Amino acid sequence: MSSFIISDVRLFNGDTVIDNTLILVENGLITQVGSSVPASLLDHLPRYSKPGHTLLPGLIDAHSHPYGDPAQPEQAFRFGITTLMDLHNTHDNAVQQKQWANERKDFPDIKSCHFAATIDGGWPWWVEKKLGIDHVCCTSLLHALTNGADYIKLMHESGAALGIPTGEIVQPRAAVQAAVVRAAHAHRLKVIAHALSLSDTLEVLRAGVDGMAHTFFDAPMTPEVIELYKRSNAWVNPTLAAAGSLTGGGADVLKLFSEDERVRCRVAEETVEQIPRCLHMKSENASLEYAIDGVRQLKAAGVPIICGSDSAPGATAFGAYLHIEMYMLVSKAGLSPIKVLQASTSTTADLFGWTDRGRVAPGLKADLLLVEGNPLTDITDLLNIRGIWRDGVEFRGHSGFPLQ
Ligand SMILES: [Zn+2]
Repeated sequence: MSSFIISDVRLFNGDTVIDNTLILVENGLITQVGSSVPASLLDHLPRYSKPGHTLLPGLIDAHSHPYGDPAQPEQAFRFGITTLMDLHNTHDNAVQQKQWANERKDFPDIKSCHFAATIDGGWPWWVEKKLGIDHVCCTSLLHALTNGADYIKLMHESGAALGIPTGEIVQPRAAVQAAVVRAAHAHRLKVIAHALSLSDTLEVLRAGVDGMAHTFFDAPMTPEVIELYKRSNAWVNPTLAAAGSLTGGGADVLKLFSEDERVRCRVAEETVEQIPRCLHMKSENASLEYAIDGVRQLKAAGVPIICGSDSAPGATAFGAYLHIEMYMLVSKAGLSPIKVLQASTSTTADLFGWTDRGRVAPGLKADLLLVEGNPLTDITDLLNIRGIWRDGVEFRGHSGFPLQ
C-alpha cells in the first residue's frame, strides 16, 4: 500500500530542484531518488507519471496552537502540512494530539512544547482571561522538560506592541528567563521565545534563546538585535501573517486568500469568514512594515528563517495561514520562493535535529506534497494540491473535504 513510484516530475528535494526525475517509495520510506528503478519493481508497483507537477517534502508548520480538537490539525493537513509544531498547550491536549498523530496518517505528525514556560499572570494568561478560557496556568517547567516536550517555548510579553497597558501582564525577570534557557539546554532541548516588541526581543535574545517565534513590529530593526541573533545563531520565525492580522496591515493579503477557491474548499465554513478578519490588537506605533523590514534585514545578515503560521482556533486559520505566510515572505519581505520552501521544510528539520523528515532523500519518511505547476516561480502554486502522503500513505480526503 505504501510502496509506489512517482515519475516525470519536478522535484524540490528540500534543498534544490531536480527536473524530470522520479522517486521510489517502499513501505513508507523514500528509497530512491533520481536513479533508475529496477525493472522488476516497475512491473508491480503503482506508478504515477506527473509531468507539469512539482513534488516536495511535506510542509512543516513551525508555530501553531492545536488545542483539544482534531479538526484543526486535520485542516492543516489538507494544506500539505505533514508536521505541525505546537507552541503552547495543556499537557493533556498535547498528549492527545500526539496520540491522534500516531494512530492516523490523514493527520499531521505533532511536535509540541506541551506547556509553555510562563509565570502566574504572565502571557498568554492575559489573552485566555479575555476570551473566558479556563486555562491551566502552569509554572511547571520541570513537567515539560520531563514529560515528552520536543522543545521549550518561553513566553516573554510585556504588551508593548499590542497596546496592553504596562503592568497588566506579569513578566518574568531576565534572570528567570536565563535560568529556563539553561535548564532546557541541560535537557538538550531548544528554546523558542515568544516576544512581539523590540524591548522584549532584546531581553530574551540576551537570555540565550535558540530562536524567536515571531519578529517584532513596534519599532524598526536595530543593529543590536541583529548582533544578538548572530551571537546565539538564533533563527527567526517571522509570522508576518499573524502580525498582519494583529496590526491590520495584512488585510489586503488576507482578503485575497479568503477569496481563493483553493483555500475555501479546504476550510470549514465559519473559518472562511474568519480569514479576512484582522485581530486589530496593536499599540499606536506598531506597524506590519516594521516586521517586514526587520525580516529583510535579518535575511541580509544571514539569520536562518523558518516558516510558521501561529494558527490558533478562532483567530488564525490552520493551514491557510502557512500559505499566507509563505506568500508574504516572498511578496513583501523579498525572499526567493526556494528560500521560503526551504524555510518550510529542510531548514526547520535541521534546526531541530529531525533527520527523518524535511527532505525527499533515501531513508527519510515519505511525507510528500504534490502540486500542479511550479511553486519555485509562483509560490501560490503550492495551493494546487494534487497529492499528500504521510509515511507513504496517500491522503484520500476528510469527511466533507475531498482532496480536490
Ligand atoms: Zn503563538
